[in-house]
Amino acid sequence: MITADVAVVGGGVHGASTAFNLAERSVTNVAVFEKSFIGAGATGKSSGLVRFHYTNVQEVTLTWVSYRDWFLVWKERVGGECGLVDHVGMLRIVPEHHVTNLRGALAMMRAVGVDTYEVDAQQVREIEPQLDVSDITVAGFEPQSGYADPSSTAVSLMEAARQRGVRLFQGVEVHGVKVEGGRVVGLETSAGDVSAPVVLVANNAWAPRLLGKLGVDVPISPEWHQVAVFYRPPSVGRHVMCIDSILDMYFRIEGQNMTLLGTGEGKPHADPDSYDSRPTMEFWAEAAEKLTQRMPAMADASAGRGMTGIYDVTPDGKPLLGPVPGIDGLYVQAGFCGTGFKIAPAVGDMMAELITTGKTTLLDWRPLRLTRFAEGEPLMGEFEYLTETGKRKDAWLM
Ligand SMILES: Cc1cc2nc3c(=O)[nH]c(=O)nc-3n(C[C@H](O)[C@H](O)[C@H](O)COP(=O)(O)OP(=O)(O)OC[C@H]3O[C@@H](n4cnc5c(N)ncnc54)[C@H](O)[C@@H]3O)c2cc1C
Repeated sequence: MITADVAVVGGGVHGASTAFNLAERSVTNVAVFEKSFIGAGATGKSSGLVRFHYTNVQEVTLTWVSYRDWFLVWKERVGGECGLVDHVGMLRIVPEHHVTNLRGALAMMRAVGVDTYEVDAQQVREIEPQLDVSDITVAGFEPQSGYADPSSTAVSLMEAARQRGVRLFQGVEVHGVKVEGGRVVGLETSAGDVSAPVVLVANNAWAPRLLGKLGVDVPISPEWHQVAVFYRPPSVGRHVMCIDSILDMYFRIEGQNMTLLGTGEGKPHADPDSYDSRPTMEFWAEAAEKLTQRMPAMADASAGRGMTGIYDVTPDGKPLLGPVPGIDGLYVQAGFCGTGFKIAPAVGDMMAELITTGKTTLLDWRPLRLTRFAEGEPLMGEFEYLTETGKRKDAWLM
């Protein structure tokens, strides 16, 4: 029988990050179980944006610390590649009626340490002359933002964890978490039973299924999302990254001559094991139209490849982190709502600290606890962008 001090379910960027961080804290008898291969889930489909604009201090802190203390110093701290392309710059375009919340969010981000400031339409045009700014009044700009390679990030974290003694079992599916007398004792897997006093469930959109077998409610709804990549015409050069909630889209440069774009509401109740890997024709048309509206010279762009993937969406759009109440030794790290790649290094560090010491230093994990919805305490950002009916806007954002 496989025995471990900590068993991790899921070999995405989050499972890999916490496994690495446990090993860094001298917990090296760790076994990671991945039913496919490293990065096979959302990690391998991710658009990889590494940007800072959030409306709550928790996610700003996690993304800033991941950038400053991890992505920027990847080779020295982890080794291997994370593929960071930084200082692309990102414009966070919001409708005029969100200006108060934008200003609040920018001030909160600056207090955390992020270089970001408000710009008007004229300044947007100076930052990126290729944009049509006729409908823009205000935006936030963050010069440091860019993107990285999620699969390389996960692989290098896992490789560094393995060098420190962590064992990886790929192609091994976890069928159940074993509990005796109110505490975790191990796992049932396709490779046999595993004995472990601590289990971390980091299997993203699959977490409700696994923990549901124990009667644990994990409020994650898997949503299908689409991404289009266009070849830019020769007249369009490299450009700034945008999250644009006037036109409801995000886009960034990809490779030398391409632009990657995501837009639209996701399709709810998706099956993470079975979904169409190609965007629809309607999506391609919508993506092309919106991109051309914001960057008119893209009218001559041609369609490249398209991707799709699954977001693990929670009711308040924030992750689920921490122990599972009532079952000693069981932890969850999931529900990243299509924005979890960039925070994985800091979250892994925080979860490893929580598992080994029972506390967290970077920030209080409790506002992100699994039971916050049942307890009537969803985490709403101080500066959340809401629709007229009070719903979170931009739930599709990366
Ligand atoms: C289209 C798209 C674009 C995105 N863009 C961005 C972005 O620009 N920036 C950003 O920060 N985030 C982005 N995200 C979100 C980000 O990719 C995810 O939040 C992050 O990758 C989640 O990592 P994870 O390790 O939690 O989950 P996953 O990568 O999904 O890993 C979970 C793993 O668990 C395995 N697994 C499941 N069940 C079992 C089981 N029973 N036994 C064993 N293994 C199991 C799966 O095979 C999978 O590999 C995007 C996501 C998508 C889909």
